[in-house]
Amino acid sequence: TTTSPVEMTSPKLNGVAKNQRLPKSPEQLLKEKRRRICVFSTKGYDRTFLTAALKALPESDKMELIFHKCALDIDSADLTKGSGAVCVFVNDNVGKDVVQKLHDNGVEAILLRCAGFNNVCLTQAETCGMFVANVPSYSPEAVAEFALSLLQTLNRNTHRAYNRVREGNFNLEGLLGRTINGKTVGVIGTGRIGVAFARIMSGFGCKILAYDPFQSSEFEKYGEYLTLEELLPQCDFVSLHCPLMDSTRQIINKNTLKLMKRGAMLVNTSRGALIDTDQVIKSLKDRTLGGLALDVYEGEGELFYNDHSDDIIQDDQLMRLMTFPNVIVCGHQAFFTEEALGEIADATLENAGDYVKGMPCPNSLVRNKHLLVRRDSKPIRI
Ligand code: NAD
Repeated sequence: TTTSPVEMTSPKLNGVAKNQRLPKSPEQLLKEKRRRICVFSTKGYDRTFLTAALKALPESDKMELIFHKCALDIDSADLTKGSGAVCVFVNDNVGKDVVQKLHDNGVEAILLRCAGFNNVCLTQAETCGMFVANVPSYSPEAVAEFALSLLQTLNRNTHRAYNRVREGNFNLEGLLGRTINGKTVGVIGTGRIGVAFARIMSGFGCKILAYDPFQSSEFEKYGEYLTLEELLPQCDFVSLHCPLMDSTRQIINKNTLKLMKRGAMLVNTSRGALIDTDQVIKSLKDRTLGGLALDVYEGEGELFYNDHSDDIIQDDQLMRLMTFPNVIVCGHQAFFTEEALGEIADATLENAGDYVKGMPCPNSLVRNKHLLVRRDSKPIRI
C-alpha cells in the first residue's frame, strides 16, 4: 500500500497552463524523498495503526509510507532507493553492512517502531551521520502485564488445563501450582518495564528483589536491590527486563542457573539471547529449573511473526523446548495491545517529523546533532 505522492499543480502562470505538471525543483524532490518512509516487516495491524496515526497529522506534516511485507536485510535494502527513511521492527537486520547499504542508497534515517535496538549497528549509523530513533516507551504495562500472564499460566498450569478440558479430561493431576502471595520475585533490569512488573508483583503481596547496575528510586518503592549472585538463590520467580547488550548476553548461563533456587521459574519477555538455551534445557531436564516462559527466543528471527504450520521447523532447540510440559513459548507478543500499537505509531511518526524538520529528537539513539535527551531524562546506554 502506498500513499500517492503529492502532484504540483498551479493556475496559468508565465505561459504554463492550469493543472499542467511543473517540473519539480531539486529542493522539492529532496523534500519529498525525506518524507518517503520505507516500512519493513509490516503486517495488517502495522498498516492500520500507522495509517491512522498519519491521518491524524496536520497536512503540513504528512509523510508517504511505503509498506513492505518483507524484512529488511542486505537484499531487500535496495527497495529503499528514493526514500529518506526506513521504519523497522525487532527482527529486521540493520547490521553494519545493511546500514552502509542504506546510506549508499541515500537513506538518512532509521526509525525503529520498538524499544530494543540490538538489531541496529549504531556505530555504523553514527559514522554515516544517520538519524536513528526508537520508541523507548509505549505502554511498558503491556509488556509487564504479559510477563505476569506468562508467570501465572506457567505456575498454575493453565496452558495444560486449557488443552485437557477440551478433550473432556477434568483430572487435576499435574496441574498443582503455588500461591504467588508471599513468594519472592527477582526482577533483572528495573527500567520502565521492570518497574511496572515490580509494581504488579508487589500488588500480589510478593517480596521483590532486583538487580540492575543502574539503580532507580522508582523501583525502590517496591523492593530492594541486590547483586545477581545474592538475588538468584532467594527467588521463586525470576523475570528478565534488561536490554540485550554485550554485558547482558547470556546473563542466564550455566553459572547463574546453578545459583537459582531449585524449582524456580524463569520468565523472559526481553530478548532471547539473554538466555543460554542449551544450559536452560539441561536445567529443565534435571528439574533444577521449575519452568520457563518465553516471549522471545534467540533464533526467533527465522520464525516469529510468520505462519510455519506447514513447514518442518529446523530449530531443534526450540522444538526441544516445546516438548516440556513446564515450558511456554509465545511469539514475541508482549507489546501487542491496541494501546501500545497506537502509541508506537504516534511516536514513530513524531520521530520521523523530527528527522524531516532537522530537529533534535528526544528518542535519538546516536550521538550526533539529533541527540537531545531522552524524554524521561534517562541516559541512553549503547
Ligand atoms: P529500559 O531501557 O527502560 O530499561 C532497561 C533496564 O535494564 C535499565 O534500567 C538498565 O539499567 C538495565 N540494565 C542494563 N544493563 C543491565 C544488566 N547488565 N543487568 C541488569 N539490568 C541491566 O527498557 P524497557 O523499556 O524496560 O525494556 C526492557 C527490554 O524489554 C527492552 O530492551 C526490550 O529488549 C524488551 N522489550 C520486549 C518487548 C516484547 O514485546 N516482548 C516489548 C518491549 C521491550
